Amino acid sequence: MTTAKEVRTRFAPSPTGYLHVGSARTALYSYLYARKHKGIFILRIEDTDLERSTQESVQAILDGMEWLGLNYDEGPFYQTHRFDRYKAVAQELLAQKKAYKCYCSKERLEELRNQQMANKAKPRYDGLCRKFMNLSEKSPAENTPFVIRFLNPDDGEVIFDDAVHGKTVFRNNELDDLIIIRSDGSPTYNFTVVVDDWEMKITHVIRGDDHLNNTPRQINILKALGADIPVYAHIPMILGSDGKKLSKRDGTTVSVMQYKEEGYLPHALLNYLVRLGWSHGDQEIFTLQEMESLFNLDHINKAAASFNTSKLIWLNQHFIKTDALSDTAREFGWHLSKLGIDLSTGPLLTDIIDIQKERAKTLKEMAERSVFFYRDIQPPEALIQKHITENIKPAIKDLHGELEKLDDFSDEPIHAILNSIAEKHGLKLGDLAQPVRVILTGGTVSPPLQSTIRVLGKIPVIQKLSKFV
Ligand code: GLU
Repeated sequence: MTTAKEVRTRFAPSPTGYLHVGSARTALYSYLYARKHKGIFILRIEDTDLERSTQESVQAILDGMEWLGLNYDEGPFYQTHRFDRYKAVAQELLAQKKAYKCYCSKERLEELRNQQMANKAKPRYDGLCRKFMNLSEKSPAENTPFVIRFLNPDDGEVIFDDAVHGKTVFRNNELDDLIIIRSDGSPTYNFTVVVDDWEMKITHVIRGDDHLNNTPRQINILKALGADIPVYAHIPMILGSDGKKLSKRDGTTVSVMQYKEEGYLPHALLNYLVRLGWSHGDQEIFTLQEMESLFNLDHINKAAASFNTSKLIWLNQHFIKTDALSDTAREFGWHLSKLGIDLSTGPLLTDIIDIQKERAKTLKEMAERSVFFYRDIQPPEALIQKHITENIKPAIKDLHGELEKLDDFSDEPIHAILNSIAEKHGLKLGDLAQPVRVILTGGTVSPPLQSTIRVLGKIPVIQKLSKFV
């Protein structure tokens, strides 16, 4: 009996800025594919570009992954910790004559390039230093700087069956002898990816299609190492509303942690991202478990997807309304704390969410509209003048008295009191409700009044009303 090979996927971001939503989608697809196949999902930080990589950006990746709940089984692995390994593999390739030292000077390479351009040929290295693989050729002096180049095959084609794009063919004579180790001894991007994908036993490389051109080069190096070739799935990019690659430029939020700040639920963002480029019939709403069990590479769209913020807002509202209150509470509490609120001074978060959830697009908005549960907000003078009129004050005094006597502080009896006081004073319910709302919340918008009164709690309500009687 043969057992199927364990699926191993990886997310391999370069820490050179915030975690972009497009990268988060790549991470999500890799994560889901591993989960679906009971495999392993790996996080690998590709930090070899020492000038552009920052610790802050590494942290943004880790924070973003954690917030989204994209838990990795192995890693984070840092490429900068593996330089010795890359050098050792390069040495093996040299020893096997699958790579060679190239001593060409910058000037020579520039001249070559200019000549090729003048002849309208694609600029590529001409393989001059391949001759040094031949022992009869005398190598330059010891201290001559060199790079190590991979000996790319001259003939034939690299063919692979991309899980998204289908059969993909590159001619070897269009590929260079790629530099794998620079003259300062540092490894290059295509080489580190190959060594890592090989040693981490990656079976499925799911990444943006901006890497499609790297794939034939990487496959050639993998073959030279005698490695298994993973399945590649190159996912199309995400376009902004201007039809160009999604960026800050067109006003769309692109950093994952910015979505947190703006009040999105991580689950809503994941649901949005999973559908942005993948489909399961016309299903729009997925639980995380559904995503994990339904995701596949077959239904990834070939065409680029356009980012649509209103759809994300729609999903966010959906999950705010339907998620378990205790699930939403964690995120909601974060937003309140961000407003400087001490959560121990107010009602249960779940009670507030329960009465606010029908009308909030985001948790940020919900938090801003819930400050009055924690702070005594003095209504603006103009609202007081308009709503707390002399003829309404006797009704407010009565309400104060009735609520003070009320033991069962729940919606129904509170509602009954509001009704009977309005009736007694010859007011419509709304005529009484709005002034009370202004007193209790400092504004004119709140959840249904009886629920607002209940959740605020008897003591704060009595205190607030007493200032106006
Ligand atoms: N580090 C590369 C990037 O951030 C990804 C490489 C890969 O997925 O193979 O674009």
